Amino acid sequence: MALIQLVCSMPLARAVRPRSLTIYSRNAVSVPSTSASPSRLGAKESRVLLGLSETELQQLALDFGQQSYRGKQLHQLLYKRKVKEIQDFSHLPLAFRNELQDAGWRVGRSPIHQSVTAADGTIKILIKLEDNRLVETVGIPVVDDKGTVRLTACVSSQVGCPLRCAFCATGQGGFSRNLQKHEIVEQVLAIEELFNQRVTNVVFMGMGEPMMNLKSVVGAHQCLNKDIEIGQRMITISTVGVPNTIKKLASHKLQSTLAVSLHAPNQKLRETIIPSAKSYPLDALLMDCRDYFQETGRRVTFEYTLLAGVNDEAAHAVELAELLHEYGRGYHVNLIPYNPIEGSEFRRPYRKAIAAFSAALESRRITTSVRQTRGPDASAACGQLRNQFQKTPLQADTETVQSDSDVAVAC
Ligand code: SF4
Repeated sequence: MALIQLVCSMPLARAVRPRSLTIYSRNAVSVPSTSASPSRLGAKESRVLLGLSETELQQLALDFGQQSYRGKQLHQLLYKRKVKEIQDFSHLPLAFRNELQDAGWRVGRSPIHQSVTAADGTIKILIKLEDNRLVETVGIPVVDDKGTVRLTACVSSQVGCPLRCAFCATGQGGFSRNLQKHEIVEQVLAIEELFNQRVTNVVFMGMGEPMMNLKSVVGAHQCLNKDIEIGQRMITISTVGVPNTIKKLASHKLQSTLAVSLHAPNQKLRETIIPSAKSYPLDALLMDCRDYFQETGRRVTFEYTLLAGVNDEAAHAVELAELLHEYGRGYHVNLIPYNPIEGSEFRRPYRKAIAAFSAALESRRITTSVRQTRGPDASAACGQLRNQFQKTPLQADTETVQSDSDVAVAC
């Protein structure tokens, strides 16, 4: 990272005036002050623009001796024009751009390492992060009954995942690290660019357990909602359940959907599918879901991956319905027929079994939907996300290859 120029212009002199950490009330997040002494900036330290709100960007402009409208321009450049390099902020004076760079600021966008398109138009993208790790994100186009194309971004919150759910490719591949706020936000921008279309829905259902990276997830959620202007109700945060996190999420009073993955109607079976369930009994999880509804007014939805011969019998559906009725009314269950992954012994249930399971729930007043499988030929479907670099980063000099629909889909 470059150090702040020692020969300062007047604005930069103001920028290096000693200040404590600036806290901006709108999003209640802290922005590293632009005023840190150059000599105290470590070689690796850098400051990322992506993820900052308009208010924070205005403050940043003021810190650099610019007028606050420059912050508005920065906001447009980051989120509307999706400019990736500070030097390409052609609306801003060259001196301001140089000062930002010299103070260690960067946009925070990463290159696309590879993209793979499935026959149904779903695109899986591998983004190469600053530390050469790869994270996966998926864009899913859907044409609704009126012919309108919606675009869902399925974003990752971690590189890999530590929870090792038995059926999940990500869990089998191990865990590397949490993603930072801007590394989540940039996934959505990358999808918008690739599809040349606005993202309408975001689901935190890619790699990782969002509740284990709650600070970045909530920060990214705020940015997606306020800065990229995706409605809160169009955003879903999913979890298999991490103790003491649902209450924390509830305190943010988001109007988004919380989707809790159950995958079993009782504790014993659940522990065989989700090893981490041992530390979070099903009744405690469901009580937290009930409290979440009381706190936010938003009912939790439940995800249930159907594994042939494991949890897909009608008796399991009956047990699940009885369990949910103990904790409230009006619950919705989203059934996800298992998507096979290499080396797994689990099988996808037959359609008949899926229909029978769904009917057993519906007849007990549990509304049910069956998730349509998207992008299986790109290994982009639910539970299939895994990249070989989850644990070991790419070699630093590995070439970044941007590919698109003409790439053979052979995952
Ligand atoms: S299902 Fe989710 S929580 Fe479980 S291992 Fe996969 S990514 Fe992690």
